[in-house]
Amino acid sequence: MPLGEEEVRRRVAEFSATLRAAGFRLTHQRLEVVREVAGTDSHPEADQIFDGVRDRVPTISMDTVYRTLGTLAGLGMVNRVAGATGAARYDANTAGHHHFLCTRCGLLRDLEGDHTEDLRIPAAAELLGRVSRVEMRLTGVCHACAASDGICAPSETPMAMSATIRSCEAHGTEWVHVNEGRRHE
Ligand SMILES: [Zn+2]
Ligand SMILES: [Zn+2]
Repeated sequence: MPLGEEEVRRRVAEFSATLRAAGFRLTHQRLEVVREVAGTDSHPEADQIFDGVRDRVPTISMDTVYRTLGTLAGLGMVNRVAGATGAARYDANTAGHHHFLCTRCGLLRDLEGDHTEDLRIPAAAELLGRVSRVEMRLTGVCHACAASDGICAPSETPMAMSATIRSCEAHGTEWVHVNEGRRHE
């Protein structure tokens, strides 16, 4: 899904300035990797970023893509997020946010809004240390995958969470899920 042009421009300017300030030369190839990762909210894998950059820069190497992504991650401009396959996905949204992952097709999307108020920090976490940031990854099945087999439901949540109201686009019904899939009749 393409991001707003203004947000992409803001990210590219910020990432470029941070790279320069850290002493990295902003080569054409690095800039194109920055543009590719900054221009999407689909959390691409490194090889998808490589494919995207190669359309514009045929001489780009996978090594350059990995190094640039590593540099951006080291400077805190992108985060690595685990996907369904274990391959790292790259996220240029540096604001704290939560994710929804479809375990069937790998769709990984930011959740709109701050849902921290929906969460209770488990006592076990408080015993280990002071919690300063909460990132929630909800895993399940996206509407498109659910529509293809008649099931609608995210099937598991990694943290205790209050019941969430979701509407199923496939069946036009509003329903409540806690942590189990539901099949429409
Ligand atoms: Zn899906
Ligand atoms: Zn994200």
